Amino acid sequence: MPSLTRDEARTRAALVEVLSYEVELDLDRGPGTFESTSTVRFRSRAVGATTWLDVAPVVLHEVLLNDRALDVAELLDGRIELPDLAADNVVVVRATMAYSRDGQGLHRAEDPADGQAYLYGHAFLAAAPRMFGCFDQPDLKAPYTVSVAAPRHWTVVGNGAATHTGPGAWSLATTPPLATYFVTVCAGPYVTRRTEHDGIPLALHARRSLEGPLDRWADQIFTLTRQGLDRYHGLFGIRYPFGEYHQVFVPEFNAGAMENPGCVTIRDDRLFRGTATDDALLIRARTIEHELAHMWFGDLVTMRWWDDLWLNESFAEYMATTTLVHATEFHEAWTSFGIVRKTWGYAAERRPSTHPVAGSPALDAAAALQDFDGISYAKGASVIRQLVAYLGEDAATAGVAAYLREHAYGNGTFDDLVGALERAGEQELGAWCQAWLRTADRDRLSVETEVEEGVIRAARLHRRVPRRHPADRVHVVDVVGWADGVEELRTVVRTTGDVTDLPELVGSRQPAVLVPNASDLTWAGVDLDPATVAALQGQLSRIPEGPARVVVWSALVDAVSGGAIDPRPVLRLVESEWVSEASPLLLERLAATAVRRFVPEFLFEREHDAAWQELADAGDLLLAGSEEGSNHAVIAARTVAECSGDEALLRRWLAGADVPSGLGTDTDFRWLLLGNLARRGLLEPSTLDDAEEADPTFGGRLAALQARASQPTEAAKAWAWSQVVEENSTRSNHQLVALLQGFWSTPDVDLVRPYVSRFFAEVPRLSGWVGDDALARVVRFGFPRVVERATLRLAEEALAGVALSPATRRNIVDGASALSEAVVSRERYAPGRVALGGSSSGSW
Ligand SMILES: [Zn+2]
Repeated sequence: MPSLTRDEARTRAALVEVLSYEVELDLDRGPGTFESTSTVRFRSRAVGATTWLDVAPVVLHEVLLNDRALDVAELLDGRIELPDLAADNVVVVRATMAYSRDGQGLHRAEDPADGQAYLYGHAFLAAAPRMFGCFDQPDLKAPYTVSVAAPRHWTVVGNGAATHTGPGAWSLATTPPLATYFVTVCAGPYVTRRTEHDGIPLALHARRSLEGPLDRWADQIFTLTRQGLDRYHGLFGIRYPFGEYHQVFVPEFNAGAMENPGCVTIRDDRLFRGTATDDALLIRARTIEHELAHMWFGDLVTMRWWDDLWLNESFAEYMATTTLVHATEFHEAWTSFGIVRKTWGYAAERRPSTHPVAGSPALDAAAALQDFDGISYAKGASVIRQLVAYLGEDAATAGVAAYLREHAYGNGTFDDLVGALERAGEQELGAWCQAWLRTADRDRLSVETEVEEGVIRAARLHRRVPRRHPADRVHVVDVVGWADGVEELRTVVRTTGDVTDLPELVGSRQPAVLVPNASDLTWAGVDLDPATVAALQGQLSRIPEGPARVVVWSALVDAVSGGAIDPRPVLRLVESEWVSEASPLLLERLAATAVRRFVPEFLFEREHDAAWQELADAGDLLLAGSEEGSNHAVIAARTVAECSGDEALLRRWLAGADVPSGLGTDTDFRWLLLGNLARRGLLEPSTLDDAEEADPTFGGRLAALQARASQPTEAAKAWAWSQVVEENSTRSNHQLVALLQGFWSTPDVDLVRPYVSRFFAEVPRLSGWVGDDALARVVRFGFPRVVERATLRLAEEALAGVALSPATRRNIVDGASALSEAVVSRERYAPGRVALGGSSSGSW
């Protein structure tokens, strides 16, 4: 189906004003399809003109335009032409639609725990026509009145408050004007918990089999929701505009959550069934505040076209983080933002596909979808944080509030927002926007000192501007030095060009470690000086400020990824420093980076066993020194379970003996043990069967698939591959990803090498039955992990060859770029000869 272009959207918006939608859905027609009738009232600004309506049915039964039947055979590529428009028009579309399994449209999933079916609508980004006939573009907003027929024992919720009007009959209150992409209906035997805050009815919904976790977490989620509502009400002076506020935890969801007004959908693995670490809780808390912020940014005021995506995501991300810090118990949210989100964004900046935060030329909707990435979210939020500092918090808030009021229930653009901020702050932002929002890439910052007898004689902050994307980005950063955990020097500096003198540092004692951007306020790569790198062991975890440690670790990740430093000493640093790392947020992410990226990708296969065992040993040490049941203990135990080669220990834990406190009944912990044993070829088939039978859940199914696919035999690989590429398979994309991740996770590259070329040939063909959004995930997370030049060549050939969807193309480009970092690193650093700080490449 061709993607809507910006020009088409402009033309249609110039012609059409949509007045209202009435949508009737019959969801009581069995597991395959549902019936959809939509009645759209709209004005045409030119009598006699022609436009089109979007609809993607299995069968199109009838289209009536002003009581005149149109020929349904004319439906082409999801569009039906509406000719000879009157000034006032009514179009009625009756169709049979298919449920989806790829998270787009009306998704239907059967809970393996009890066989019950659960539905949720996901219209984003262009899937609304898979649910009802509509004018599918973000700037044609209109009120919706939805009614639903469903099996009698189901609950139905949607954007408007739902009323149960009879057996299996539901009517949803007419909404304020909505864009098509966030219209939703969720239906199924969901269990519900309700409360109320400040006159706003609040509700949570989850599958029946998740009732326990729902009850366990409901208080925390409701509390965060209340805190967010209070904060946004106070900041913007605009009340929550959509009546009731429902949060529905749904299965097999592609993103973290979706901001449907009044009816947010959230992936239901966020209702943790096992032990939840601070990191996991913070990520969920951020999601809750992020979606709530969207009720104003995105839902009340919607971007006119997808190239202003950042108006939605950057603001929601920024607002969520500040709300967590100022209004909730999650005061460490900026630390988490630094290690989780900024490293994601920095990785996106290293890709050839990097783009400016604002104003990427999204010529069609499919291209726009590609920019839902670390740039639009993490860099955008980071840059907005800088803008708020630049304008002052009061002026920035006043500007944003004015923008929201002026465009409420309508649409806004980049220029609208910047104009409002300029008026509120009484300063011109053109140059600032050009440098930070309209230019891609990032500067690199480093501090250079000249030292005599331990005393600094000269100091300079260097700003290296990327040649591909030059701009005058002014940074306001602090430079801080520590020795043995004691602050030795600190200065705040505003860069003036590419070299900025730091006279305040002259005469100070040279500290052990010197960290530019120590409070992590600016968006830049940081190159640590060689003396600091050499001193990190023993010093790093003693730096008392979390953001500074984040900056150092982030710089190390960047340096390993960019081939500027040998990954081996960095791994040793992880092992030595994490025992004394105070922040569980940082600890968990370090462990994940070491276990899932540095070892499998950056080390040679022959090194993997030993490297994993070293991580397991470090985990053991940490476990022994941590309070039972603490975050540290849980992270340590998981690392041991995932990495250890001690078969006897793994089996003992699996049998329930000596399991670290708090993890004895944790099913996900058992799957880590099973996954490790499976990957090593140590698991009997019957053990895996039993484990799967004992855990009939979505998560259990995924873990079992991944474990089966990871077994190091030709038969296991052949089976997994056939499952991935099976034509018209009804596997969810989550299952495809689990299969592929298991498939590639083997140190025996010979087993999987023959499949690399098949990946590039066969996976893009899944587009015949897997939606764009879903396939993008499969390509991204299932990308071949055979770290060789040959894989890069095959990726290039694929890009040069057959027609690929924009989503597939983008993810192959990015996947190859990420893999090439590991290839280059392997070529550059032979095992075991370089010490940290003594990099063979000179400086880094
Ligand atoms: Zn968002």
